[in-house]
Amino acid sequence: MTFNIYNTLTKKKEDFVPVHEGKVGMYTCGPTVYNYAHIGNLRTYIFEDVLKKSLKYMGYKVKHVMNITDVGHLQSDSDEGDDKMLLGATREKKTVWEIAKFYEDAFFNDCKRLNIERPTVVCKATDHIQDMINFIKILEEKGYTYIANGNVYYSIDKFKDYNKLANLSMEELEAGSRVEVDKHKKNPLDFVLWFTNSKFKNQIMQWDSPWGVGFPGWHIECSTMSIKYLGEYIDIHCGGVDHIPIHHTNEIAQSEGAIGHKWVNYWMHGEFLVLNNGKMSKSTGDFLTVDKLIEKGFSPLDYRYFCLQSKYRKQLVFTYENLTDAKNAFKRIKARIKNILDNKVQGEEVSTEKITPFIDNFKSQISDDLNFANAFTVLLDVIKDASLNNSEKIYLIEDFDNVFSLNLTVEEVQPETAPEHNEEIEKLIAQRNEARKQKDWAKADAIRNMLLEKSVELLDTREGTTWKYKQ
Ligand code: AMP
Ligand code: ZN
Repeated sequence: MTFNIYNTLTKKKEDFVPVHEGKVGMYTCGPTVYNYAHIGNLRTYIFEDVLKKSLKYMGYKVKHVMNITDVGHLQSDSDEGDDKMLLGATREKKTVWEIAKFYEDAFFNDCKRLNIERPTVVCKATDHIQDMINFIKILEEKGYTYIANGNVYYSIDKFKDYNKLANLSMEELEAGSRVEVDKHKKNPLDFVLWFTNSKFKNQIMQWDSPWGVGFPGWHIECSTMSIKYLGEYIDIHCGGVDHIPIHHTNEIAQSEGAIGHKWVNYWMHGEFLVLNNGKMSKSTGDFLTVDKLIEKGFSPLDYRYFCLQSKYRKQLVFTYENLTDAKNAFKRIKARIKNILDNKVQGEEVSTEKITPFIDNFKSQISDDLNFANAFTVLLDVIKDASLNNSEKIYLIEDFDNVFSLNLTVEEVQPETAPEHNEEIEKLIAQRNEARKQKDWAKADAIRNMLLEKSVELLDTREGTTWKYKQ
């Protein structure tokens, strides 16, 4: 069965053919860690997660690389506005390094709560400064750069087909990118590879380079790190649609300029989550986070379910009413699955012949450019099919959940934890261990019971004490 995906580069649905048989090299643009990820950003990461899991379901071995932008990203993607990291640091009176660490951890905590799998490689821009310098040197040797006002620019006129991904008129491209005109640019669409002349007086993140002390432009990190970890021929590169006209267009110009051949075979872009009163923006500080949804009584997986109900290439309108509808539908599905679980007979046979048509149907839906609406219909068919026994149903549901990642057969939705909560549990476990060492069994039991009241169950093993949520 072929895996069919929409390629932004060709504007067509295409059969996916990997560079190396059976393997996929996939790069996704990661977060700029100066604030919490908003639920719009997370919609894109959920789309990328189900893409990866669908490929794995189809039998591919996927190497997934994602960057963490912790330097160089200005408010506008085309080098204008304020430095995002500095904005975060000023807002919270912390150093840029503290800001980066805090929001990177917060991002992965959100991912964990949304069952978004961690990429195979997570690479930070600030850990790859020398690699970026080497990359810029290649572009310089090949004649793609010029220096003006102390900064190194990429000259887009030197690169044939600059516009091939976005396929916009030059006027449209310019309109999308220009906030202020930088008079040092030869072409308004040129972009900075290395800044030495920063307009931010208190720029803390700076490194030595052949062009002087400074810091990299934003786009160069993705070209450099994707090639470092995935090689010069990459199967799939993803991001949100906002990346098409500037960031990804510039990544192509840099990468193909440096390596001299086609770089990425399939470009895939997730459409935006929009609010009915406009755009969600991280830089204005007014946005919805996973914590906010939890505060309002939704679980992170309600949100994942909500996202999976719509096509990734269509805008999704967020309202609490829409999310409530999704939450209720999800609850109904879980209740029906619980009923199947409760009535499952031990030792019941799972017939390959009976489950195969459902698996084939599921595969053909996810292979149709991630048609999740139809994949959910297959799940509902399984739930209500009278010819399947309960063991066969649970087998199929668990199998499909490798892609959905909605904890469909987990009976109780886990209480949501903030990292502080985990820390609190660990602290109590340490206190209980100490009490046990002192043979203070009453205290040890009291702590165990206190945790049980919070639905936390302790497990004493030879390796130490672990915990899980009580089902
Ligand atoms: P950022 O942290 O701003 O670099 O964005 C992280 C990812 O979220 C990128 O892939 C963006 O394209 C994507 N993104 C930004 N805003 C939205 C939105 N409202 N809906 C969906 N994806 C978004
Ligand atoms: Zn990128």
